Amino acid sequence: MPTFEELLERWDGEQAVIRRDRESGAWIFICMHSTRLGPAAGGTRMKVYDSPADGLEDAMRLSAGMTNKLAIADLGLGGGKTVLAVPKIPEGEERRALLRRYGDAVASLGGSFLTSSDVNTGEEDMDVIAERTEHVFGRTEANGGAGDPGPFTAVGVFHGIRASLAHAFGSGDVSGRTVLVQGAGSVGGALAELLGREGARVLIADVDAARAEAIAAEVGGSTVTPDAAVEAVIGLECDVYAPCALGGTLSVATVPHIRCRIVAGSANNQLAEPEAAELLRAAGILYAPDYVINAGGAIAITFLERQGRSRAEVDAALARIGDTLTEIYDHADAEGTTTAAAADAVAACRLSAGPVSKDDA
Ligand code: NAD
Repeated sequence: MPTFEELLERWDGEQAVIRRDRESGAWIFICMHSTRLGPAAGGTRMKVYDSPADGLEDAMRLSAGMTNKLAIADLGLGGGKTVLAVPKIPEGEERRALLRRYGDAVASLGGSFLTSSDVNTGEEDMDVIAERTEHVFGRTEANGGAGDPGPFTAVGVFHGIRASLAHAFGSGDVSGRTVLVQGAGSVGGALAELLGREGARVLIADVDAARAEAIAAEVGGSTVTPDAAVEAVIGLECDVYAPCALGGTLSVATVPHIRCRIVAGSANNQLAEPEAAELLRAAGILYAPDYVINAGGAIAITFLERQGRSRAEVDAALARIGDTLTEIYDHADAEGTTTAAAADAVAACRLSAGPVSKDDA
């Protein structure tokens, strides 16, 4: 396991703020990967890690993904991420106290870091952080926020699936298509509902069997193996595999098992190794780069809470996720590269162009 020094040495980000929260035994890692296009923005993940270094490494990796995501989404924001590496997930007053101390840490950065929710944190947690800093989004609607970003992310993924179907099959119609949704949580549940409504055959896999059953009953879909083993789930035959649980399901070991035409889902960091992208291409599987297709929540929250834009503008921006993916697919075809490399190239281009000034906008 690398040390903090080794991780910082090899990371290409700008700044990592590390705090030991003695009261709770947690480590707070705020990683600001890039502020080139604006303040570094990203969610706050609360998780138990094997070691503090694992938590720091996760925050570094996730913050780099945010730089690309926000560059492509064109929101005038840089990339960041926080990991609260806790000894166990806290509840009640203990949780609120940790979040308030974390809120103080965010406040101390003076707006160069903006946060919202992520794995194991939600809108109520953002309300608590907001007691200490204004630089927090994704609060409850009652507290002036846009609420849970999951359903917005699901709409973006839905547009992405339509664009991917159009590219692979010549029609974006989801009716009659089989879509395997892995993870029936905030995003996966809402996605399953959108797909079911449009006539797709929805297969739902969730380690929480009761949750999978409930969503399947609601959308007229069916559940598949509750086996958490990635191979068992992605070996199922379908048109679209939508990973909406945890990242890292696409690896050199798993890709040979995949029996779908398209991978398009919300999970962050889906490629366990960069080589998996090339394997997917070689197998004729169209991969929707994760940070492009899952930007809907970030877009909606930024539009509604930071830029004062309307719901109609949010809807239009979510639909544009499909157009962006189509451009990336066309670019990858023309260049003979993977879709992941094509997305990285678009993000690098936006970053090197720098922020759009108000006069250019
Ligand atoms: P969530 O916690 O609400 O739901 C995750 C679901 O996955 C849960 O139902 C859980 O039981 C299930 N799950 C966990 N491990 C599993 C496994 N091995 N196999 C099958 N199911 C499993 O999370 P969410 O907000 O829906 O986010 C899902 C993914 O999308 C995460 O990777 C998240 O980082 C990413 N993402 C979410 C958003 C958002 O707006 N919520 C935005 C961008 C990316």
